[in-house]
Amino acid sequence: MENKSSYKTKAIKESKTSFCWSINCYDGCSHGCLYCYGRVIRRKKYAHWIQPAPRSNVVGDLKKDIDWLNKNPGAKQKIRDIMVCAITDGYQDMELVHRITRQVVKQLIDNGLPFTVLTKNRNVLQDAELFRGYDKCRVGFTVATLDDNLRKQLEPFASPADDRCEALAELKSKGIATYCSVEPMMPDNRSDPIAIVDRLRDYVDLFEFGKWNPYFRKCIQAKTGIVYDEDYYVKVFAKLIPYLETKGISYCIAKHSEGFLKARGFSFIPAQLVTDRPYPKPSDVHVCAGVRVAHPNTSPSTSAALPVTP
Ligand code: SF4
Repeated sequence: MENKSSYKTKAIKESKTSFCWSINCYDGCSHGCLYCYGRVIRRKKYAHWIQPAPRSNVVGDLKKDIDWLNKNPGAKQKIRDIMVCAITDGYQDMELVHRITRQVVKQLIDNGLPFTVLTKNRNVLQDAELFRGYDKCRVGFTVATLDDNLRKQLEPFASPADDRCEALAELKSKGIATYCSVEPMMPDNRSDPIAIVDRLRDYVDLFEFGKWNPYFRKCIQAKTGIVYDEDYYVKVFAKLIPYLETKGISYCIAKHSEGFLKARGFSFIPAQLVTDRPYPKPSDVHVCAGVRVAHPNTSPSTSAALPVTP
């Protein structure tokens, strides 16, 4: 992001994800997911990637960015949602020592900036009181499978699937807007997205779905036996999207999967990224009492995709 004075933001980076902007608090990630594309971007070997290091300059850089944004309200307004974090996990265990992510979200909140936390670690609950009552954030978990044996293979050092589901319920019970990234959907019935939706729909305000990027297909096939299968995705999205529409569940399709589906005959109304989806206001976020709650301002009638028989 650059303005006439040529200031280039240092901590808030433009992102190719569905969020458009992101902040990364660590280099590397101890969760060690087999499919991690972050380590491809950072060009690290697996053994090196899972020994992360704090990015100690992030907090200071973010302060500089915010000072500049506060003097440039037009630029500040363009930042509609910041992903915390995109190429690492801000709540991996190292966060309990360094608290960099906590300092980052505090700064974002103090300066009225919008953000979405995405994690695979229940450590995020330690900051629930920071998120509570702030109406420009949502807190999300990736849930790619409910089967913990598969989870151990794919995401060996992240929180178990049940812990993530329980953490989403707890966040929801505190009146915090919630998000769930069902990505990567694996071509395997242990990764059935409809089963994940059914387990979590009472606690999640917005789902996002994305297929597996086959970059590590050989390694994942060797480890799990799962074979990358494009036909599977065509079939599963053709079933999933009508299901979401019928049930009135708010959802988005990950940017890269939207292109994949369009090329295979799916027809989309103008894309809505996560960034385009408004945060439910605290008054709209009903404290969960074990029943489904609908949010009129994230109506599925404006959702990302409409299926056409492929
Ligand atoms: S949690 Fe995210 S950043 Fe960390 S290893 Fe897994 S995919 Fe990579």
